[in-house]
Amino acid sequence: MATKSSLSIAGESLPLGRRKIVQVEVGNLYDFTEMNIPVEVIRGTQDGPILFLSGALHGDEINGVEIIRRVSKRLRVKKLRGTVLAVPVVNVFGFNTRSRYLPDRRDLNRCFPGTTKGSLASQMARVFMKEVVSKSTHGIDFHTGALHRYNIPQVRACIDEARTKAMAKAFGTQVVINSSLRDGSLREAARKKKIPILLFEGGEALRFDEPVIKAGVQGCLAVMKHLGMLEKVGKKQDGADPVFVKNSFWVRSPHGGSMRVLKKPGEVVAEGDCLALILDLFGKSEIRVDAPASGIIIGGTRLPLVNRGDALFHIATSENVDFAEQLDEFL
Ligand SMILES: [Zn+2]
Repeated sequence: MATKSSLSIAGESLPLGRRKIVQVEVGNLYDFTEMNIPVEVIRGTQDGPILFLSGALHGDEINGVEIIRRVSKRLRVKKLRGTVLAVPVVNVFGFNTRSRYLPDRRDLNRCFPGTTKGSLASQMARVFMKEVVSKSTHGIDFHTGALHRYNIPQVRACIDEARTKAMAKAFGTQVVINSSLRDGSLREAARKKKIPILLFEGGEALRFDEPVIKAGVQGCLAVMKHLGMLEKVGKKQDGADPVFVKNSFWVRSPHGGSMRVLKKPGEVVAEGDCLALILDLFGKSEIRVDAPASGIIIGGTRLPLVNRGDALFHIATSENVDFAEQLDEFL
């Protein structure tokens, strides 16, 4: 980890109080156009933590791009303690082609920590680790649901680790999922370097979702206040504790057909509740999709045309806490 007062990214040395967009070179297009990951380095006049904010690791997950843009725009070096490394678009190839993946169909978030001589994705992961992650003390990675899938705003983190749990609580989403680490993910690679990292999920691919973006911006600023990077204004009480969720499962479609949704993301459901009906073309058949257990719907498909086995609803359960209230603002 870099010492806090000296920081050099892509060969550029950046002293405290400096703000600059640095280009990290990651390859080129067929026509030799150079491809770079743009990183805005925002160094406060006072020393402090180094927080990276990364978006569009999956190139079509663009809520994070807008969240990071808004956070960057609000920051002032004179009022910042520490450094923000703002990286709105990591997967620059996918972002420019509206694709989750890289040109070779690899998923960048399964290629960390990467290698110098591997695939394009592996090399990009390695460069991002070297120039951004390994120079940071903390991180927040922004994602959305996949194409045609919606997630309510939620933080995924390893809450067994105290500093990560405190960051997750500070972020302020109503649901925090203690999710296991996926092999090759940025989160796993950061964890191995003992860098506390949150993954924010909200909305769906290729959409800007205003409530989700606002939750992301507020959460990001709240984490910066928690880390002492921004001053807390007034004596605002900490919000209610989030619900820490240990388990979640997908409810799959029992049949192909058209789906009429009866319960939406954010709703609390009890075991046996009818979540949706699968309909035929002529009104002769209505097949129920029931909740196999109680919990809160944290995500689901947006497509009403379903095949047997399609993932319809993502439901989170918690042993200790009853979900007493539904998250009305996202219904
Ligand atoms: Zn993603």
